[in-house]
Amino acid sequence: MSPQPLLEKPEPEAHLVQFYEADEHVLTQNVGRYLLEGLKLDEGLLVIAIKEHADAFIRELERCGTDPDAAVRNKRALFLDAEETLDRCMTGDQPDWRRFEHVIGTALLEVRSREDHLGCRAYGELVALLWKRGQFSAAIRLEEFWNKLLESGNFKLFCGYPIDVFGPEFRADSVNALLCAHTHVVPAGLDSDLESAVGRAMDDVLGAEIVNVRSEMRTSFQPTAWATVPAAEAAILWIGNHVPEKADAVAARARAYYHGEKRFRALVENSADAISLIDAEGNVLYASASTTSILGYGPRDLVGCNWLRVVHAEDVDSIGRTLEDVLATPRRTVHWQARLIHKSERCCWVEGATTNLLDDPDVRAIVSNYRDITERKHLEQENEKRAQELARSNAELQDFAYVAAHDLREPLRTVAAYTQLLKIAQSDEERGQCADIIIGGVTRMATLLDDLLSLTQLEFDNSREAVELHRVVHQAFKNLEQAVKESGATLAIDPLPVVQARESYLIEVFQNLISNAIKYRSVAPIEIRVTSEAWEREWLIKVSDSGIGIAPKYHDQIFGLFKRLHGRDVPGTGLGLAICRKIVEGMGGKIWVDSKPGMGSTFCFTIPRDMTMDGSELGAESKT
Ligand code: ADP
Repeated sequence: MSPQPLLEKPEPEAHLVQFYEADEHVLTQNVGRYLLEGLKLDEGLLVIAIKEHADAFIRELERCGTDPDAAVRNKRALFLDAEETLDRCMTGDQPDWRRFEHVIGTALLEVRSREDHLGCRAYGELVALLWKRGQFSAAIRLEEFWNKLLESGNFKLFCGYPIDVFGPEFRADSVNALLCAHTHVVPAGLDSDLESAVGRAMDDVLGAEIVNVRSEMRTSFQPTAWATVPAAEAAILWIGNHVPEKADAVAARARAYYHGEKRFRALVENSADAISLIDAEGNVLYASASTTSILGYGPRDLVGCNWLRVVHAEDVDSIGRTLEDVLATPRRTVHWQARLIHKSERCCWVEGATTNLLDDPDVRAIVSNYRDITERKHLEQENEKRAQELARSNAELQDFAYVAAHDLREPLRTVAAYTQLLKIAQSDEERGQCADIIIGGVTRMATLLDDLLSLTQLEFDNSREAVELHRVVHQAFKNLEQAVKESGATLAIDPLPVVQARESYLIEVFQNLISNAIKYRSVAPIEIRVTSEAWEREWLIKVSDSGIGIAPKYHDQIFGLFKRLHGRDVPGTGLGLAICRKIVEGMGGKIWVDSKPGMGSTFCFTIPRDMTMDGSELGAESKT
């Protein structure tokens, strides 16, 4: 990028000029910067421009976040129409010093800050109008007036001229006179576009001569003793003076390259994809404007940094391998996906394509374009989860259908057999026995169907609330009042936490475990104990009993559908623990049993602790 220090730190009394005909947009940006810097330094602003330009400057200032209207209201800025102002400064065809001094002097006084040392900045197109009308000597005379005024007052001046740096008028002698009237030429192109376009055009047209020309230009070029001229404009002027027969060809080519580059830039800058150029080491040479919408960084923030700096730590290796692949295969496009770190430190998924164009003399870089696919990635992950969930619930449904058919058939067979017997029963007593057995079978089927229904209705609801486990256990115990009374069971509850869960589900879990502890009692008195342990990311809850215990080989089986280790002597459907497992796993926990025959059983399950970002737990304190 060519430096533009003139605008950042113009010397007092600097008299700048920009030849803008080749690219008016650059004039708007440069004048915008010049005025913006003035506002920041508390300087007064005087803008004398044609309406079209004044509007463009105002829009540019607004785009940069300032309020030019407020500056006008506060008498910090004054916008004058160039045509009208020129008329007021002229007598006939010639500029009139006294009129000029009065008109401009008064306007400058109007915007001059009360603190005189802060000075003013003026932008003027008066002379440009004379130039456009072909009144060259009047124009030069008016520039002299400006210089005279500059000597007497603390202000700077920026003049815009509708002269095309690629056109023949830029090589005419009149331009030399103009240059003599100014101190600095502001580049007519942004960044290094103009410079590289002129350089390429010189390479093309001057070919072998170029080496000599360049060294000569370096040592002897000085287009004017007065103005500082940027490299591109200097080269065009130099060629016009020293190789005039090739000047038109160089200028024409330079114009084509410059506009081509601008079109390319517009394409890149307006693309929704972010585009970046890196070198073989991964250092960023260029990042397009859309980088900001994806990564939050401004394009210039990344230039000079290594690309891996924005890659998520877990993807650095894969991106490193992609880069090796890209380096090994010039001009082949490699597609990749990775997580990048946004300026705000959040992670975003991007998908990109990278091509090694290091050997292309016009590019000499590795070119990548990439787009944000975070939303798509989340949807994919969500779909994958849903597909897994669907596969799991299909498998569960199959098991379920198999076991349900099997277990329902058994009482059905009994009912069918005893109905046959009923038909041929001889005595009332026999008929009564058959009827009792039939009723027993039907009742069992009804119980089985009820339990099945409650299992299938457990469609998991993920909503959570703060649940005091202590209260839940009491409620479950209370729901089993009759069985508790009859069995004389005792319940001891250690301090239990408050968890994030659904209360009704947890009551169901405890109710099943406590009722089993009562059902599968030994000869010993029934003692049930509920305890908890805080693990790093979950709570461990234990329900232990003094019952008959379970042999280790059944520890997994008993959580399956209809899995029972007991006959009819103990009522049950074999669904209680299956329901417990479904609830616990639905909450993201696990359930298992520690037990040995004759040693009682301890049913254990976990409940995830909901952590906040700072690691503290959601919900209230534990209650004892
Ligand atoms: P059900 O109690 O209706 O048979 P469950 O699913 O609740 O069904 O239990 C499955 C089986 O696990 C029971 O039939 C029983 O054999 C065994 N079991 C469950 N809880 C206990 C316990 N606390 N002590 C000993 N055995 C148990």
